[in-house]
Amino acid sequence: IPSIVWFRQDLRLSDQAAFAAAAAEGPVLAVYVLDDEIPGEWRIGGAQRWWLHHTLAALAESLADLGVPLVLRRGRAPDEIARIAEETGARRVHCLAHQEPWWREAEDALARSVDLVRHPGRLLAEQGIVRTGSGGPFRIFTPFWRALQLHMPPPPPEPAPTNVQGMVHPPRSDRLEEWHLLPTAPNWAEGFGHWTPGEAGARARLEAFADEVGDYDHARNLPSTDGTSSLSPHLHFGEVSPAAVWHALDGKAGAESYLREIGWRDFAANLIVQQPDYGTAHGRAKMDALAWRTGPEADAEFRAWTRGQTGYPIVDAGMRQLWHIGWMHNRVRMIAASFLVKHLLIDWRRGQHWFWDCLVDADYGNNAVNWQWIAGTGVDSSPFGRIMAPLVQSPKFDAGAYIRRWVPELAGLDDSSIHDPHGAGVAPAGYPEPLIAHRPARERALAAAAAARG
Ligand code: FAD
Repeated sequence: IPSIVWFRQDLRLSDQAAFAAAAAEGPVLAVYVLDDEIPGEWRIGGAQRWWLHHTLAALAESLADLGVPLVLRRGRAPDEIARIAEETGARRVHCLAHQEPWWREAEDALARSVDLVRHPGRLLAEQGIVRTGSGGPFRIFTPFWRALQLHMPPPPPEPAPTNVQGMVHPPRSDRLEEWHLLPTAPNWAEGFGHWTPGEAGARARLEAFADEVGDYDHARNLPSTDGTSSLSPHLHFGEVSPAAVWHALDGKAGAESYLREIGWRDFAANLIVQQPDYGTAHGRAKMDALAWRTGPEADAEFRAWTRGQTGYPIVDAGMRQLWHIGWMHNRVRMIAASFLVKHLLIDWRRGQHWFWDCLVDADYGNNAVNWQWIAGTGVDSSPFGRIMAPLVQSPKFDAGAYIRRWVPELAGLDDSSIHDPHGAGVAPAGYPEPLIAHRPARERALAAAAAARG
């Protein structure tokens, strides 16, 4: 009798408790269901479909080496898994517990029809164990992080089981190609060659970064350098466990500030468990009264933002990097997101959806928590009136080389003029005028915030 492993955002074989538990029981059947229904507006976006194709191909190959079939199905995941369990007479279904609201509901629904075992492994600290002194969940990062560290280190990562038996006569499977996850013409994913989806790619990235982590604290804010780990899509898809990252880096000089960032990932998961609609509803209800700009002019400006045509080089560089490689540097995500919300006074949820479709690391918790933090609408964000100045941020974080790389029409400008080519009077023909100057944008945003406060 087979045991089923239900794979989702945990696409690895090592340190994968669900896979290990199934392997210990007898023949294993691995299943992935492409579910575009129950996540609703949070169904997997365009850039992640590209990633998903490649990571599933890699997973299927690793499983095949062990003789384990990977069955691919499309539809409502809990229904499909229950159907496969019935068809095969499976003993049990194993999965890693997820924190996205639709996945938690799907797990609950499935648990009503099959014997479902939910294992930890998506987070550093098992969901729910990081608690305040009075036993409640945290809503502020710093005390959360302090409490989380009391549970660290996480258990050491387990190697993939080697003595695995695969199910001999697996049920019907879709072919991956039938899902058409890769773009056809135009092939917007040409620049994605930068990435190697899959467990081996994740491991290689982690090993390379382990040699560089000493510079992280200094380099992480400089978009012109490769100072961050680029592990975010690998972590989102679960190609490497956060515990494996912790153990690879813990104790190395300079690793503390990096591990704290991984802690943010746990914090975001902890917040969406408390407030499952955090992707749409404000953490601070009084911000509901903010009058976002709408209408044709706002729409045109939103489009200019998505295309990297705002006239602010640092914002444009970030938005074009996002389009070309499906990822944007964290410092620039903050600047570009703040520009949309405060300078253009456009609803953060529009920007969040754009990111959702374009990011290879799009993650419900991380995306919502960071957007709400920048927008001043989150449970722990600074007030809306704190407005980032892109023209100050850009030289401060030495973004010249970054802009030259992603905004080629500005490649001929030096560091004295590239951050503000219009202000310096050297903007080449074709590079747009700023959509709005900083001062009037700031005044408009402050007035909107004051009106919202009543
Ligand atoms: P590193 O600096 O190497 O960090 C290591 C890991 O820590 C990351 O891979 C990530 O898993 C985690 N991490 C780092 N910073 C944060 C953070 N601020 N919040 C939560 N986790 C963090 N990250 C996502 O993974 N998915 C998203 O959809 C996402 N949307 C964002 C939207 C906005 C507006 C902003 C400002 C940030 C967003 N981030 C998101 C957080 C952060 O920008 C990325 O995690 C980071 O840039 C990924 O690159 P890295 O792996 O090189 O990061």
